[in-house]
Amino acid sequence: MTSDGRIPQSIVIYGEKGLGKKKLASYIAQRLLCTGDNPPCNGCHACRMLTGGGHPDFIKVVPSLKSGGYKLDEDLRRVVSDAYIAPSEGRVKVYLIADMDKTPQGSQNALLKLIEEPPAHAVIILTASAREYFLPTVLSRVTALSMKSVTGEQAIAYLKETTDKSEQEICDAVKAMGGNIGRCIEFFESKPLKKAVEVTTLMAQAIEQKNEYDMLRAMWKCDGNRELCVTVLGLLMQVLRDAAMIRMGVGERLIGCSEENSRRLGAAFSERKLTALCEICEKYIAAVNGNSNLTLCLNAVCADIRLCI
Ligand SMILES: [Zn+2]
Repeated sequence: MTSDGRIPQSIVIYGEKGLGKKKLASYIAQRLLCTGDNPPCNGCHACRMLTGGGHPDFIKVVPSLKSGGYKLDEDLRRVVSDAYIAPSEGRVKVYLIADMDKTPQGSQNALLKLIEEPPAHAVIILTASAREYFLPTVLSRVTALSMKSVTGEQAIAYLKETTDKSEQEICDAVKAMGGNIGRCIEFFESKPLKKAVEVTTLMAQAIEQKNEYDMLRAMWKCDGNRELCVTVLGLLMQVLRDAAMIRMGVGERLIGCSEENSRRLGAAFSERKLTALCEICEKYIAAVNGNSNLTLCLNAVCADIRLCI
């Protein structure tokens, strides 16, 4: 699309954390704002502003709520009125409203008219970790792009080229995070992510053994830490999804952090049960993000899983 010069004006980019949604949005902005002959040229004034920290026509909307959510009036309606004002430097203005996950879906209605018929100079990019975070009325008005992970080999090759980590560190990261390059990079430095992988592995083992007590023991490690809980449930979903893929005989492109456990789960449970388990994880990710009582959620997710298996 960018090489044809046919970049849509309303775009949704979705995919889990670490896959490069904001990177893609920045690339689109640079393609549009670059004034060189061969965009993105990385040499013109606009490109230098973009890579140097800011271009007045690439507006990354900052959420007002502490939770990371956007406020209807302060954030979203302000974008709508601002979008009708001409760009200050370039010929277009690009708005990035990232991580819509924590904003009530209903607020998206404020953007409908804008994304349906944006002014000629405006491009609006929305991102979230899953397509389901967007209203159908939004999705029907935008070009929706889904981000996918690369293969493990591609991730290893890329990380060798772009980081100074040892081969062992790179292999460990890719083993845990698969072809999600952003997550691999995070894994190098992040103790919380290493902990999340540890809890996920314990959970996967406990599920395979149908041991509710071990499930609770694993999940209680997330008590008092919503973010850890959401990460664990997200990672667990990937392990379960891989298990279902293995079960169906299409296990060549796994994304989860524990192939060994995915194989065991794939051998232990039917495809239907694995799908139902994924749905339980999804339900509790939404509940924990939605500020439900965390301790109750930790107990309830284990009980639901136990009932299901
Ligand atoms: Zn340029």
